[in-house]
Amino acid sequence: PLSLLKDPSLLKTDALIHGQWVKGAAATRFDVHDPATGQKLADVANLGPKDAEAAIAAADKAWPAWRAKTGKERSIILRKWFDLLMANQDDLGRLMTAEQGKPYAEAKGEVAYGASFVEWFAEEAKRVNGETLPQFDNNRRLLVLRQPIGVCAAITPWNFPLAMITRKVAPALAAGCPVVIKPAELTPLTALAAAELAVRAGIPAGVLNVVTADGANSIAVGKVFCASETVRHISFTGSTEVGRILMQQSAPSVKKLSLELGGNAPFIVFDDADIDSAVEGAIASKYRNAGQTCVCANRIYVQDGVYDEFVQKFAAKVKTFKVGNGFEDGVVQGPLIEDAAVEKVRRHVADAVAKGGKLLAGGKKLDGQFFEPTVVAEATADMLCATEETFGPFAPVFRFKTEQEAITAANATIFGLASYFYSRDIGRIFRVSEALEYGMVGINAGIIATEHVPFGGVKQSGLGREGSSHGIDEYVEMKYLCLGDI
Ligand code: ADP
Repeated sequence: PLSLLKDPSLLKTDALIHGQWVKGAAATRFDVHDPATGQKLADVANLGPKDAEAAIAAADKAWPAWRAKTGKERSIILRKWFDLLMANQDDLGRLMTAEQGKPYAEAKGEVAYGASFVEWFAEEAKRVNGETLPQFDNNRRLLVLRQPIGVCAAITPWNFPLAMITRKVAPALAAGCPVVIKPAELTPLTALAAAELAVRAGIPAGVLNVVTADGANSIAVGKVFCASETVRHISFTGSTEVGRILMQQSAPSVKKLSLELGGNAPFIVFDDADIDSAVEGAIASKYRNAGQTCVCANRIYVQDGVYDEFVQKFAAKVKTFKVGNGFEDGVVQGPLIEDAAVEKVRRHVADAVAKGGKLLAGGKKLDGQFFEPTVVAEATADMLCATEETFGPFAPVFRFKTEQEAITAANATIFGLASYFYSRDIGRIFRVSEALEYGMVGINAGIIATEHVPFGGVKQSGLGREGSSHGIDEYVEMKYLCLGDI
């Protein structure tokens, strides 16, 4: 698939420090595979703690000149990066499908989504406004400056190889901060191609650095980021487990953290819902990226009166999905990212069926890293899928009777990222929206993310928000000026 790149020079396999493509102090490599075929795609520079220190030093050195640019100057450079990302949408999509597995059309969709954060924050770069406050005596004047926080580190996951990077890096750069990115070891090629386009856009040396590392070195690099007194902010998207480790490791340096962690999204369908719309929303929310997003519906709750109609229509649609290599025409579900992910889905489905769930679609592992899109009806609270995030193409459908019962079940989790419900009753829409303990609520909508809304979770789903006019707040510090003797 990579021989099809229109611009073969976008296939970068070394890391980027201070504008130089480097192999790292140890000069070792790690392999990147295509999850659809198991084939090796490339080997990539495997950087370690020494290289991470070098990248942090490069960012620190680049900071004064970058922060000294006006917001408008930074905006113009970011806008160029956006234009280049979009001009290379096909190639970025190919790299993404090859290393991550999502269908090519979906990959190109992610390129547009990922690029949209660069466009949005290019605009926001011009609007990092301060404040003037009323004085407490007439000899003084009170001001608030909003200044870049400093060197930022971004640690990103494999499920959105581009978008999880741009929604951290674009606001950091817009605010005037340099960044060091540690992309997921399973999907570094998209990250490196995006970095090459950043270089072409004129982002100065050291302002954007990419430290590629395998699994073991990622842990070591993460420790360097957390311990560093130069790194002032870490933004992480990934598991709650790793988020807790980063928080712990960051305590000695009292570092500011933005964390976008796991979810366990409920998707509730009430008796008064438009059932066809709910089926469509549930499919989009559950099976996008083969169920591998932190906002995917994990638990579908359907009210008694419409339960049978919903599960019948839902399972019928799921059975029509074409599963296969993301480069094949018509494929809507690609492979899972690794064998362990397939095994987790298998375990959740087996557990649900053993505990009395009714298998209505799929249920089996296929050859390679593929799993059939699966629906199990009559799911119950004692099943693994009720408490754990499956992160795969398995939809358990629970039955409920009252509104309160659905709200209680939906909130019975340590997570609080995305939630969804379908209803046409305006009173219920407000009651349920307010009662759900989640950072985001989709009402009669299964896909809700876009660049100009605040994306993030409550409870153990994380800290902070990405995107929107609030997204830049993570990367600026307020400074209060009290001016006397007027
Ligand atoms: P996922 O469940 O999405 O695979 P992880 O939390 O395991 O998420 O990984 C997300 C990112 O965090 C990846 O870039 C990975 O390399 C990195 N990572 C994993 N473990 C650690 C760690 N202990 N310290 C720092 N980074 C880590």
